[in-house]
Amino acid sequence: MSELAKLYEEIAACQRCILSQSRNKPVPGEGPEDAEIMFIGEAPGFHEDQQGRPFVGAAGRFLEELLASIGLKREDVYICNVIKCRPPGNRDPRPEEIEACRPFLDRQIELVKPKLIVTLGRFSMERYFPGAKITRIHGQPRKMGGIIYYPVFHPAAALHQPKWRRAVEEDFLKIPQLLAEMEEIAETERPEDVEQLSLF
Ligand code: URA
Repeated sequence: MSELAKLYEEIAACQRCILSQSRNKPVPGEGPEDAEIMFIGEAPGFHEDQQGRPFVGAAGRFLEELLASIGLKREDVYICNVIKCRPPGNRDPRPEEIEACRPFLDRQIELVKPKLIVTLGRFSMERYFPGAKITRIHGQPRKMGGIIYYPVFHPAAALHQPKWRRAVEEDFLKIPQLLAEMEEIAETERPEDVEQLSLF
């Protein structure tokens, strides 16, 4: 069994927060174990909780369209969420739930070793760009520890907001070039540089 498969078993047995009591199925994430690109969303919704798979509802269909626009299929990339169990009624994840799930996401990144992490929406952006505003920093890649982090709007939010929809479509179209020019992007190591992002 692969390390990632073992991690999925740990997630399935997890009782670190109250979401474990109301979940139907945990949604650990899916995709190739050596994917170059990892997409991190927010939390499972109704359909994800039913199926135990990330992004299988309306937001997932839009994500698949966005991937198709750059010649990718969902099977080509790794897809997961900041938290692995559905918050009741799709409420926002709470800080303690995000914290409880943090080691799982960290291990997923360590094991998959993506070159590019695309954060979908503000909850996953907040993990890597604390205090930043998504309206200001979406579409601006930053390299930290050898990984490019690329914040974009959440597909579910963009579905209902024409200006965000245009923005996420445009931001996706920049992904192939980002991958091609990855080596040339300079590191942003200092935390104060990241904090500065919120000013842009
Ligand atoms: N929205 C998310 O953030 N994640 C999913 O898996 C589905 C919808």
